[in-house]
Amino acid sequence: MPLVSMRQLLDEAAKGGYGVGAFNVNNMEQIQAIMEAARATQSPVIVQASRGARQYSQDNFLYHLMLAAAELYPEIPVAMHQDHGNSFETCKSAIALGFTSVMMDGSLKADGKTPTDFEENVEVTRKVVEYAHERGVTVEGEIGVLGGIEDGHGAGGTGLEHVTDPDQAVEFAERTGVDALAIAIGTSHGAYKFSKKPDGSVLKMDILIEIHKRLPRTHLVMHGSSSVPKDLQDIVNKYGGHLKETWGVPVEEIQLGIQHGVRKINVDTDNRLAITGAIRKVLFENPEKFDPRDYNKPAREAMQKVVAERMTQFGQAGHAGDYTPKTIEEMREGYLDGTLETRPSLAGAH
Ligand SMILES: [Zn+2]
Repeated sequence: MPLVSMRQLLDEAAKGGYGVGAFNVNNMEQIQAIMEAARATQSPVIVQASRGARQYSQDNFLYHLMLAAAELYPEIPVAMHQDHGNSFETCKSAIALGFTSVMMDGSLKADGKTPTDFEENVEVTRKVVEYAHERGVTVEGEIGVLGGIEDGHGAGGTGLEHVTDPDQAVEFAERTGVDALAIAIGTSHGAYKFSKKPDGSVLKMDILIEIHKRLPRTHLVMHGSSSVPKDLQDIVNKYGGHLKETWGVPVEEIQLGIQHGVRKINVDTDNRLAITGAIRKVLFENPEKFDPRDYNKPAREAMQKVVAERMTQFGQAGHAGDYTPKTIEEMREGYLDGTLETRPSLAGAH
């Protein structure tokens, strides 16, 4: 099966009332871990690469690994997504390479650090939407600013400094026509999200619920949504690591989000922790080992386990065979003839 449109994956998830995990990759083992988990749970899946990942692996290595994944797992619909594109050029280069979806994060300037104003965000995002939709490619935008920093990307600070304003979210969706929208409701990137178990004072689920009510056709995206489970932190620390105590986003909060329009959930930190814990354990217990396969294999298995667990929790498990993936060309036609329109003022026409 060729790489499929993220928009179709999310439309199907909306019909089925489930969410789809978007997992970050930098190398072969991570892609294999995700695909094995998808096969074991029969899940459609989004694989995403940040700018940092594209730089680390070089574009072509990553892209051809993804093609291998599509070839070896033909029964799994898989979308390949650019995570946090910082400019029109970044998104354009991802599309040229064959990504089926891009995020234009216009909430920050091209430096990936400085918050933009609303008009700047609308302008760059609309430009990416026009370019991408003409080519059948999905676009995710962001309104409000997430906390934390990951892969050198982010404004830093807590997730509560630029929480999304629902009126702005509606105006943004109307003026850009994005397929999916990342909103800031108190979550942060990286491992250190919350210094205590998060409750209603830090996770603004009421804002998410209101935005979904007003934008029922725009798929909502939760970033920084690793759960950072204590058992994964403990393994790292038990075998020589030094992680400070930290809390992630509880799975129940994500499930509440899924009931209210969240269709894409970004998870990276949990997989990083699982990999690092497994490698530390092997090397700590077997200091004589030096074949990278001796620790890469358990690392891959540890990540696979976390991914499969999330796929079940998000509800995507069992849905891989529900639909026939459309070609990117068919998606292009849908954007051109208006059937894929998300803008509230225009969507009613179809
Ligand atoms: Zn993110």
